[in-house]
Amino acid sequence: NLYFDYCSSTPLFPSVQEVILDTYQRVYANSSSMHLPGKEANTLVNECRERIAKILGVKQREVIFTSGATESNNLALFGVANVAKNKLSHPIHIITSSVEHSSIFESAVHLSSEGVEVTFLPVNKSGIVEVTDVQRAIKKNTVLVSIIHVNNETGAIQPVEEIGSMLKSEAPGVYFHVDGVQAFGKLDVNLANMDLYTLSGHKIGGPKGIGILMVKDHVDIAPIQYGGKQESGLRPGTVNVPGVTAITEAMIVTISKQPSSIAKLKNFQNELRHHLSDNSDIIINSPSGALCAPHILNLSYPKSTSALMLNFLGKNGIHLSSQSACSSKGNKISRVIMEMCQNKQISSSSIRISLSADHSEEDIQYLLQCILGMVKSMSENKKFPTI
Ligand code: PMP
Repeated sequence: NLYFDYCSSTPLFPSVQEVILDTYQRVYANSSSMHLPGKEANTLVNECRERIAKILGVKQREVIFTSGATESNNLALFGVANVAKNKLSHPIHIITSSVEHSSIFESAVHLSSEGVEVTFLPVNKSGIVEVTDVQRAIKKNTVLVSIIHVNNETGAIQPVEEIGSMLKSEAPGVYFHVDGVQAFGKLDVNLANMDLYTLSGHKIGGPKGIGILMVKDHVDIAPIQYGGKQESGLRPGTVNVPGVTAITEAMIVTISKQPSSIAKLKNFQNELRHHLSDNSDIIINSPSGALCAPHILNLSYPKSTSALMLNFLGKNGIHLSSQSACSSKGNKISRVIMEMCQNKQISSSSIRISLSADHSEEDIQYLLQCILGMVKSMSENKKFPTI
């Protein structure tokens, strides 16, 4: 069985396994308790916060621990929008894109139902948001721009650094949030012109149930849950101390491996691209070259459907997804691919390969053999399901 769904979740790094077990065994006190074990747990959390702040190049108090990226994204959008709505007498406006992860997209849809003006920016054929489109969308009442860094379905790298510097010079009062879940460890990240940044533990060799929202000091944001003063009052609830030590270790390991991982992933991706694009029935949806993160390759075989292909590959021991696990259940058409190509057939026949640097050359060869074999047998059987 071969797993090619590293964008959905990753196994724990061995050292993360050790760290999390050790924390569960030794540091079980509540980090908000006033007794000695509680204070020790709190010290451990703050040491981790400091190490993460150093990695991200931000201040220690700007690192907020959450239960995962979905919560971080909700907190960023609702936390900023709620404060702005209460402060301003007129309706507020936020800008995002049409290819965001569902935790941003659906939060924005919800805000829109509450009277917030929302602009969902289109993307070009490569699945990339144009900086000039962001620039043109800014209005007097815009309070927040939120753009995904690396798209979780296509790997498209959004020009977040350019958008950030454009906003700082042309709209300095507008906050910039970036969902960096699929970017960390896959490309260099510079948070200088970002006000909020989202990360998730289980996408980088850490555990599920822990995430980060980086919130710069100057950001006016309110909590979206109540009942505790933890995490500077922004995220009430007992701190997940083992999760905190584990995500810290996962980030340290990910950063130390970054150069060698990128080199390996790029080779795998190029090899897959080269052999798959030789087949004229296969469409590569991911953008090419420097526009694409090294670990994702999305393709369509429009003569079939995503579900049929995943089933076929699964029977051959290849496990991957067609879209984000958060939106794949029941959705036959990928919103992200549809936004890019406006073609129902292509967006209902897409599959996403997401790679790990721990894959071997033999794994890649087997994957290629299965995909090309699948396309051949599906085209010969002429069993083309209608959509
Ligand atoms: N954003 C992106 C880009 C993602 O890929 C995911 C995971 N599918 C999330 C947010 C949500 O992450 P979590 O599972 O930590 O809630």
